[in-house]
Amino acid sequence: MAGERAQRPSDFLPRRLPVEDDPLRPCPFCPGSHLEPVLECIGPDGEWDVRVVANLYPAFSGNEPMVVSHLGPVFTQAPASGVHDVIILARDHSVSWADLDGDHAARIMTAVKQRMAEHSLQPGLRYSQAVVNSGREAGASIEHPHGQLLSMPFIPGEAANELAGFARFQGNCLLCAVMDAEDEERHRVVYSDDRVVMLCPFWSGTPYEMLLIPRAHEIHLYGAADEDLAAMGRSVQLALSSLRWRLGDVAYNLMFHSAPFRTTADFHWHVHVVPKISTRGGFEMGSGVLINVVPPERAADDLRSSFAHA
Ligand SMILES: [Zn+2]
Ligand SMILES: [Zn+2]
Ligand SMILES: [Zn+2]
Repeated sequence: MAGERAQRPSDFLPRRLPVEDDPLRPCPFCPGSHLEPVLECIGPDGEWDVRVVANLYPAFSGNEPMVVSHLGPVFTQAPASGVHDVIILARDHSVSWADLDGDHAARIMTAVKQRMAEHSLQPGLRYSQAVVNSGREAGASIEHPHGQLLSMPFIPGEAANELAGFARFQGNCLLCAVMDAEDEERHRVVYSDDRVVMLCPFWSGTPYEMLLIPRAHEIHLYGAADEDLAAMGRSVQLALSSLRWRLGDVAYNLMFHSAPFRTTADFHWHVHVVPKISTRGGFEMGSGVLINVVPPERAADDLRSSFAHA
């Protein structure tokens, strides 16, 4: 933490850069475009407002078994088997999750749950990563609000690190313990109710990052009760609208963490909300050490004040 290097929120990257839409190509995610196959379609009164389609340019595809082959002493490879879905979050091209009502946000979480559960049944797949990238700086290539669900035949590094953290923790569940401790201290809690705790983690590596934890202990997102998923959808909406209130329309990433499929390891599903307002410089990349100029206590205080003005 380097709070003395703190900048005012206005010093951060001002607004998210929209993805430039090609005027000659209609948006592939807007209503009326023909997407095949449609894997899931959810909405009220016979109209979809959330739908899931196969990614046309998948990062993972096919179902070749995970076999590592060695092409030489240092050339190790494995097939990128798996599934890559796109989750279209809304019909409206320019809406944000921050603007959605609770029912709509709950339908997004239902879509994530159903697809993740479906992927978990496919033999050979071990882990599913759901993300939302919003804004060019956050890696979005299409402006229309959408998320992605990538399921792969291995456990990636970040998930393995988190699993190791749960395994190392001397106690019951790491995140249940975090919620208990933060409930008591209060100063890093941005918002909480009887289903979700939203906080700026003690170990925040970047300004204004948030962790959204369901109170009900469950290792898999797709094992969560519908009420908890709905509460999480609404918490994401609250988190994003508090960020927008505090920092303006910034780019951000959402990362949904759920335990690997068919595991008995200890875990507790959760969602990371990370605004893209700082960049990693040479020191961060070279050393892996993150310098955060906004300590989580100050970030939580700033974000909490948005609720007073809502
Ligand atoms: Zn669109
Ligand atoms: Zn737990
Ligand atoms: Zn995580």
